[in-house]
Amino acid sequence: MYIVLFGAPGAGKGTQASYVAQQMNLVHIATGDLFRQAIEQGTELGMQAKSDMEKGLLGPNELTIKMVMERMAVPDCETGVVFDGFPRNLGQAETLDEALEKQGKAVDNAVYIKVAEEELLKRLTGRWVCRKCQQPYHETESPPKIQGKCDKCGGELYQRPDDNIETIKNRLGVYFKETAPLIDYYTKAGKLVEVDGVGGIDEVGRRIIEGLRK
Ligand code: AMP
Repeated sequence: MYIVLFGAPGAGKGTQASYVAQQMNLVHIATGDLFRQAIEQGTELGMQAKSDMEKGLLGPNELTIKMVMERMAVPDCETGVVFDGFPRNLGQAETLDEALEKQGKAVDNAVYIKVAEEELLKRLTGRWVCRKCQQPYHETESPPKIQGKCDKCGGELYQRPDDNIETIKNRLGVYFKETAPLIDYYTKAGKLVEVDGVGGIDEVGRRIIEGLRK
């Protein structure tokens, strides 16, 4: 199965992609994480992506697609993938469709996680993430047991540099302009599954799995 998970920044893509991947035994590919790894490793790609990410802009399509294709070439992806944060615009969606078609495969469903803008802002401005395992926390809604430490792996929690109000506003603008047209794209393809993204992790996760089963 090949599933695309998309929604605005803060909709819970990462959390839910990890839940769905676990429940359905699929590989989780998060392009945001691939970009952050490249930045940390100081690769050429990372240097190019860093300034885009700091401004809340999308990285170049060509580089994004290259990273995804390299990851997809690893044999563990053969049984299926949950794409988290990819595709992020129509060009990427078309390229993904073409790449899968060449292998006799296709995107089965695209899950759109819907969350109101006010809630997105609240989530992003209070978000803390584990440096090691990427587990997200919220300073008031879901704080860690020990301040600054991940409950799951003990890793250090940090606030993403692009989770500041100015950058968040840019990211939301980019989302509405570039990514929201995917709702139409996947509706026309008969693949859209729309899910209410407000609720507990398991609750939203169950809605997604139910939507995929239908
Ligand atoms: P995320 O962790 O999904 O919020 O992504 C963080 C940042 O990584 C984005 O603001 C972009 O700069 C970059 N990024 C992630 N996924 C993509 C993508 N599919 N296309 C272009 N840039 C991306």
